[in-house]
Amino acid sequence: MNRPRIGISACLLGKKVRHNGEDKRVDWLVEELGKFVTWVPLCPEVQMGLGVPRKTMRLSGKPQTPQLLVRGTDENLTSLALETSKRMMAPDLDLDSFIFKKDSPSCGLERVKIYGKNDSPSRSAVGIFASAVKTKYPTIPLIEEGRLTDLKQRELYVVRLFAFTELKRIPLKVAALQKFHQDYKLLLMAHAPDQYRMLGNLAANSSRKSVRDLLLNYQTDFLKSINRAPTRKQWFNVLQHMMGYFKKTIPSGERQQLMSSMEEYRRGVIPLVAVLTLFKYLAQRHSVAYLLTQKLFQPYPKNLLLVQY
Ligand code: SF4
Repeated sequence: MNRPRIGISACLLGKKVRHNGEDKRVDWLVEELGKFVTWVPLCPEVQMGLGVPRKTMRLSGKPQTPQLLVRGTDENLTSLALETSKRMMAPDLDLDSFIFKKDSPSCGLERVKIYGKNDSPSRSAVGIFASAVKTKYPTIPLIEEGRLTDLKQRELYVVRLFAFTELKRIPLKVAALQKFHQDYKLLLMAHAPDQYRMLGNLAANSSRKSVRDLLLNYQTDFLKSINRAPTRKQWFNVLQHMMGYFKKTIPSGERQQLMSSMEEYRRGVIPLVAVLTLFKYLAQRHSVAYLLTQKLFQPYPKNLLLVQY
């Protein structure tokens, strides 16, 4: 599996770069995800030359044009922050994703506090550095560390991360995109049942776009689709679809076994991973080639300890 390059707010990896000289280490990132990715740790406030420790800052003004002010003195560091962010994003870091520290006036990706008229705060801004990352990398998966504490969101992010990294690395050929789409078809069907056909049509390139434009379009729509969390009902529909590949090829005892596992999953008695393991075993046993190439069986590295949905 491809190794994603992930930009990350450096304090999340345990670097002592925060205003108070401390860090905000997230153990799961360092000890688990870190085994499978290449980190690109960045701290915009250190890059601004503010040192550690330093005074805290806050955003002020309008969310579209936030000003970065030092608390207590109201010294305006916006130009320095914008220039530094631009400089940090200037080289092509070739990032596949970015994980941001939430709530930071520099790194926060969403709902960052900003003080408007009468100094009243609202949670409506994006940190100045996070904005620069969004501009430079408009299509990659971006997330705040706070969202990763929810296990479902964590798993969704990991699926998205490895799928997108693979998509970014495919050769610049329509045939390669079609193969990618083929392998992700059932996963897409679970995440976005109303979109996977549209993505299939896009991959077929009937409108004869240039391969570069085609890939860019597909990447954007693929990310939107895979970002939607599948419901149990959607997964059940995919399992029913998979069942169609076994209709004539397996003995009735095995078919019965599959159907009762599906029913147990539908009722919430067993997890999805248990049914998928059975499907995979039977697909291998009966050489169902189409199913065996499907990414839904292993959308991220095997040893990354997550429970599939
Ligand atoms: S600027 Fe970003 S990376 Fe640096 S300490 Fe603050 S949140 Fe962490």
